[in-house]
Amino acid sequence: MRFDVVTLFPELFEPFLRVGVTRRAFESRQVDVRLWPLRDFAEDNYRRVDDRPYGGGPGMVMLVEPLERAMAAVRADRVAATSSAPPPAVIYFSPTGRRMDQALVRELAAGPGAIVLCGRYEGIDQRFLDRHVTMEISLGDFVLSGGELPALAMLDAVTRLQEGVLNDAASHQQDSFSDGLLDCPHYSRPEVLETVNGSQPVPPVLLSGHHAEIARWRRERSLALTQQRRPDLIEAARRDGKLSRKDEAFLSSLPRV
Ligand code: SAH
Repeated sequence: MRFDVVTLFPELFEPFLRVGVTRRAFESRQVDVRLWPLRDFAEDNYRRVDDRPYGGGPGMVMLVEPLERAMAAVRADRVAATSSAPPPAVIYFSPTGRRMDQALVRELAAGPGAIVLCGRYEGIDQRFLDRHVTMEISLGDFVLSGGELPALAMLDAVTRLQEGVLNDAASHQQDSFSDGLLDCPHYSRPEVLETVNGSQPVPPVLLSGHHAEIARWRRERSLALTQQRRPDLIEAARRDGKLSRKDEAFLSSLPRV
């Protein structure tokens, strides 16, 4: 899969692409990330990419023309690489977009990649968005100063779902949201943690070696945590038929809050 990222700050991406479990996928181009510095497509002497908004008011707006030239270059390069591929999705990161969640990440992870636009200032001239963008995505209900962090968040989430990226293929099936619930707590050595406030043992069931009981315990911890923090996810899991009779019995045994 291939992602072409149009950004004023390509240097923010490079260190990220070289660390952690996702590194190999980026380096081998299993997930091929190409960076397009928008400044290279500005034509005047000042390499201008923004200007004041019509109608007045604070802030600056990203100009259409450098973006059009960047987009033409990306499209030409993609056509040269894969002549028969359908036109790629064009993603703009924006607080006004669809909230990113694991369902959207799974959709993108199964696809061929996209062209990704990172905004800065007050955002991009609407006429450019109207002409090119097929999907607006928001990282959440807060405002950042640029689309680079959301783009990196998306690239990370999509890449860890690719074949062979996580050492243990089962690992992401256990993550939060993968089955519609929040993840259970995790423990490692030491078996008993001694602190000034006393000792904290690992929950005994995890030392029992009894796989079915451990799986049940983890499921129940997930259910209880999700019920407490994100009852909306419990409702959704119920609607999607993801809760067993045992799960329902456990949930109804929990104290009502
Ligand atoms: N005026 C815009 C905010 C501009 S912030 C508004 O109020 O909606 C500058 C850029 O940061 C945006 O163009 C967008 O690309 C990015 N950005 C900011 N917050 C974001 C979020 N929650 N999700 C995705 N992108 C965001």
